[in-house]
Amino acid sequence: MSSLHTTAVRQFERAADLLDLNTANRLILASPKNEVVVNFPITMDDGSTQLLTGYRVQHNNSLGPYKGGMRFSPAVDIDEVRALATWMTFKTALVDIPFGGAKGGIAINPRDYSPTELERIVRRFTFALGSNIGPDHDIPAPDMGTNAQHMVWMMDTYSSMASAADRHTVRRVVTGKTVATGGSRGRDKATGQGLTFVLEAWCNRTGQNIDAMRCAIQGFGNVGEHAARTLTAAGAVIVAVADHTGAVHNPDGIDPEELWKYTSSVSPNGGVVGAPGLNSISTEEFWRVQCDVMVPAALERQVTAERARNLRATVIIEGANGPTMPEAEPILAERDITVLPDILANAGGVTVSYFEWVQNRAGDAWTLVDVDARLRRSLREATDAVLEAAAEFDCSLRDAAYVVALRRLNTVMSQRGVFP
Ligand code: NAD
Repeated sequence: MSSLHTTAVRQFERAADLLDLNTANRLILASPKNEVVVNFPITMDDGSTQLLTGYRVQHNNSLGPYKGGMRFSPAVDIDEVRALATWMTFKTALVDIPFGGAKGGIAINPRDYSPTELERIVRRFTFALGSNIGPDHDIPAPDMGTNAQHMVWMMDTYSSMASAADRHTVRRVVTGKTVATGGSRGRDKATGQGLTFVLEAWCNRTGQNIDAMRCAIQGFGNVGEHAARTLTAAGAVIVAVADHTGAVHNPDGIDPEELWKYTSSVSPNGGVVGAPGLNSISTEEFWRVQCDVMVPAALERQVTAERARNLRATVIIEGANGPTMPEAEPILAERDITVLPDILANAGGVTVSYFEWVQNRAGDAWTLVDVDARLRRSLREATDAVLEAAAEFDCSLRDAAYVVALRRLNTVMSQRGVFP
């Protein structure tokens, strides 16, 4: 199995071939600019000490400050963070926002720590990163295993290290904060909402309708839950949901609000299994569920060759980063299963993060209606650009998404040149 970073590089190299990209820009984009690794101690509630390792990989900042999430997951390692940072560079370029790409994280399972331990972890990690992040330099956001509260702790710690006069202006050092502390309305649902807008834009261009489309979703965290809610609001029917505890199925439809009530306050482990009125199915049965749209919104490398052969959906829309394995791609193409790629499908999160950063700079707070309207327009334009590039190069939507992003990156990188 190739490394995740190798997969990310191969993805952009296919587009580089289509565009006949110059060697210098290929070389530069194949490796991250900076990799920051910090080891730091934290005191556990029982008084013992743990030493943790945190990563921040800054892939490229040609278009603007480094931007990308912070992930808390046991699988975090330098290779995974490199891949995720690389994908961020292409995602921000694709949706045409003035940010570069970065990613960070710590290899922990947040469920193993108490809220007070997590607060100390976030604050000490932020302190250890120091000036490696900054409001116009590198701007973290939530990702798997982190949420708005973690972002507020990060912002508060960074602000506490700033000079007294700068404490408020630096709050845009982090996006995905709570609305009360300067977050944007609509950021909590932005990635799931964006996924629904991308599906809607693709449906409009291909003469289809979301209404009554049957969807299966892997993941019921930030992305999965809000994808379920916004797809349902758009008229689709959620027939199956999978997470770290297993999977549930109901061909007549799953109510996202009812499922959320169960996972957030009743379920002993925060998972979907055991939700009232739903049949438990195995993970492999989940991947064979009869549906129109499969939404992987949890981990990388979930759509294996075997699952690609058995899938009964006609569209995959990638809520997660890197959920489709390279060996599954030709099988999906052969079976005429459309893949709406991650750098397009889950770009709603970083787009509203950009809106948050702009609002913080201006001291403004937009309405939810305004945020949603801007997000929908931005993702419709990105989806149209991808479909046009796919027609121009007769290539997959993934290759087309990289073509659109790479054209923008190449223009800026070529005009700026290589220093000195
Ligand atoms: P989250 O931590 O809120 O939720 C993760 C979900 O994955 C949970 O439902 C969990 O149960 C599930 N999961 C964990 N292990 C699993 C397993 N072994 N099998 C099945 N399900 C499992 O994370 P999130 O923020 O929703 O992120 C999910 C994906 O979306 C990640 O790939 C992330 O990089 C990507 N993404 C997130 C955002 C964002 O704004 N949060 C933006 C873009 C992309």
